[in-house]
Amino acid sequence: MRAPLLSFLVLCSGTSLFGAVEKPFNFYETPGKLPKQVVPTEYSIRIAPNIDNFTFSGSESVKLNVRNPVHQLVLNALELKIEAASVDGKELQASAITIDTENEVLTLTLPSELAAGDHTLALRFTGKINQQGQGLFYMRYQEQGSGVRKVMLGTQFEATDARRFFPCWDEPAFRARFQLTAVAPENWLAVSNMPIESEKKIAGGKEMRFAPTPPMPSYLNVLVAGELDFIETRVGETQIRVLATKGKAELGRYALEASVQILQYYNDYFGVPYPLPKLDQIAIPGGFGGAMENWGGITYYETGLLFDPKNSSAEIKQNIYEVLAHEMAHMWFGDLVTMAWWDNLWLNEGFASWMGSKCTAHFNPQWEVWLARDLPRDPTRRSGIAKEAAMEGDARSTTHPIQQPVATEAEAGSAFDDITYKKGQSFLRMLESFLGEDVFRDGIRRYIAAHKYSNTTTGDLWDALSEASKEPVGEIAAGWTEQPGFPVVKVRREPDGKVQLTQERFTVNFKGAPALLWKIPLTYSVVGETPATLLMTGKAAALESIPADRALKLNLNGAGNYRIEYDARSWKLLLEALPKLGLEDRVNLLSDAWALTQAGRAPVSLYFELVEKLPASTDLAEREQIIHVLDYMNRLLAGSPAHKKFQHYARSLLHPTFKIQGWQPKTGERPSAGSLRASLISTLGDLNDPEIIDGCRNRFEKYLADPASLAPDLRPAVLGVAGRYADEKTWNKLHELGLKTTSIEEKQNYYNALAEATDPKLIKKTLPIALTDELPTSRAVFLAARVARDSGHPELAWEFAAANMKALLAKTDALGENRYAPGLFTFFSDESRANELKGYAKANLPAASAPDVAKAIDEIQFRAEFKKRLMTQLNAWIDKKDQK
Ligand SMILES: [Zn+2]
Repeated sequence: MRAPLLSFLVLCSGTSLFGAVEKPFNFYETPGKLPKQVVPTEYSIRIAPNIDNFTFSGSESVKLNVRNPVHQLVLNALELKIEAASVDGKELQASAITIDTENEVLTLTLPSELAAGDHTLALRFTGKINQQGQGLFYMRYQEQGSGVRKVMLGTQFEATDARRFFPCWDEPAFRARFQLTAVAPENWLAVSNMPIESEKKIAGGKEMRFAPTPPMPSYLNVLVAGELDFIETRVGETQIRVLATKGKAELGRYALEASVQILQYYNDYFGVPYPLPKLDQIAIPGGFGGAMENWGGITYYETGLLFDPKNSSAEIKQNIYEVLAHEMAHMWFGDLVTMAWWDNLWLNEGFASWMGSKCTAHFNPQWEVWLARDLPRDPTRRSGIAKEAAMEGDARSTTHPIQQPVATEAEAGSAFDDITYKKGQSFLRMLESFLGEDVFRDGIRRYIAAHKYSNTTTGDLWDALSEASKEPVGEIAAGWTEQPGFPVVKVRREPDGKVQLTQERFTVNFKGAPALLWKIPLTYSVVGETPATLLMTGKAAALESIPADRALKLNLNGAGNYRIEYDARSWKLLLEALPKLGLEDRVNLLSDAWALTQAGRAPVSLYFELVEKLPASTDLAEREQIIHVLDYMNRLLAGSPAHKKFQHYARSLLHPTFKIQGWQPKTGERPSAGSLRASLISTLGDLNDPEIIDGCRNRFEKYLADPASLAPDLRPAVLGVAGRYADEKTWNKLHELGLKTTSIEEKQNYYNALAEATDPKLIKKTLPIALTDELPTSRAVFLAARVARDSGHPELAWEFAAANMKALLAKTDALGENRYAPGLFTFFSDESRANELKGYAKANLPAASAPDVAKAIDEIQFRAEFKKRLMTQLNAWIDKKDQK
């Protein structure tokens, strides 16, 4: 049974700048499938796993508040078998219990009308323990030290998988208290949201009852159980622990210290202290690849939490801090206050991304967080500066507004994308810089205080920020959250000191895009002078009294989510003023110039002229932007007639920086130097640089004899280049090392190196590893994507995946299933592959994969067109230089 969902949804205003601002939270008007007459208030759940056959049996008792008399109870359940059901102690007939598998809904038909008031539902059920990270899942791993194969359990419920663990009202507006009881072997440790309240021995193990949670959505429940160790500390009343598989807890020391720092910062920032008695940070060795903000028991893929000072790279350390700061921000934004429905997911994810970056930047200014490269954890996604990655996707025809209707479980799942996370983050940063830091924080404090233990819409956030700032925040925000895309502001200088500004939608590979307007909080300054702001509300605006001979920079520090297209006169003045611009502004010019090239608004010479005019520097973010572009071009041009010439030119751009950095870390160098050195080695290696390739081979040989001879920062790069140009002997050696290590980080380094190999014979050895359990399931499945990206042979990766699709998809969740095949096609730049994907999707993929298929087709078409354009323009640029 499905409620008429769409009628409840707030439809996005795609045309008006002053579109209707969303209404505040109202339980009855919140979208969702489940009727709102019956509201659960307290669950008591008991789960007994059977590790031998990966099943579990469960029972639960749910206190219900019935608001209007009903004849049916309608809740969610998926892949559960209901053994018995009773209401107020009266057993229901088996025929009264029906499960609608497609809608994931369990309906209990009652023998007579259930009156308004309080009632109790009791259920007995059985379910399965999955291989992939949805619902209750198991992980196999090698124990630290002994290397013995072990198994442990974890859960992953967001967005809609709590219903695989126990029947429940599995929509975020149905907040309730949950009290979990779990059975586990005697020598296991079990963790849930709250501390253990009581524990007793039972036949074959022990039974632990956890304290009840505060009212929260079902998707925030957690259970992790296995042979675990922990280290702990306290912040005021809060116990903080880092848990990991036996022997690894001490590697959580850095995360524990960071957690203390972050918790204190958030207690102050949000104005409401962390409300639970404990916060557990749990490292799990597989199942899923990210982190999940279960209230009081956050789960992390192991490399997101564990840091080995002797063997981990600086990048891993930075990533741990950022992930911790993101997940811990959710303890307030997401857990204490939760978006009412998945159409407002950005309230959780955009906010946690922004808050996490803000907190990370506050304590670690040396990391240049706002400019930092986003680690491509999932190789089918783009990397590069986080904000830039979101803008690249947002310029395409396949984008969507931050807030968009969500009707199905699949749509809830696919809301977890770059737009939700990164455009949301980027918009909040722009808004904060416009309203001012203190005013913005004051608004957030009002919001948290007013809505704690409840749900909200975006409208509630704008109301709180408007009250604090006295600005019409909802009106400014509407264009950014309720319509797709973003603007480019064109700058035209006139000799009389007047500067004409006009805005239009910025698009890439998107002919006939609907024209849209935004309210743009513009920032600008004459280079070297005081910054100023202007809220650009219409199509055109003007700046007065700008000296005609002075450079003018807009979008200061690149903090705004828009692009700038300067006229030739403005651009020339800016190029002359480059030595006076700060790092963030230089990176912003590079990013905009590259985007204008992709959009066909400027030739590639605009970008390279800027690169060549930049004063020599080893600023990480600036060089990373250039490396990112050269790396992109190198992959795109692979196999084309322009490739060799391009590689030669690209090496000439990177070599001067590498000469300064050298192979060896220098005493007193900047903390970012190691990352830059690694990026240069990796990219120059890919660009076929003989000196780098030899250097990597030699260092790999030395590393085999003495691992300490190679700095942890350089290991991924050196192993990668050794793997790329590997012969069979080297390949075997890397594989052997990967099999042996019990460190997930090291393991990933070795297997990434295998995926780099360009020799088709070796590629055919690498691909089948995806079918084994050598790597955690969540990583194994991406091995094919890595090969497609790194080996230069996406066709071999696709052939393999197509032949083994069923086994590969068994390792991924439903969302992964929709994205997997389309993701592999995004590495092609041949138009015929677009048609092949269309055909494949029609015959093999579910309707829910349509957005991912459309994105992949758009990407292939763009790459095909851009490749042709680049070849001509690059040839012209390089020839022109050679003639000089
Ligand atoms: Zn998040």
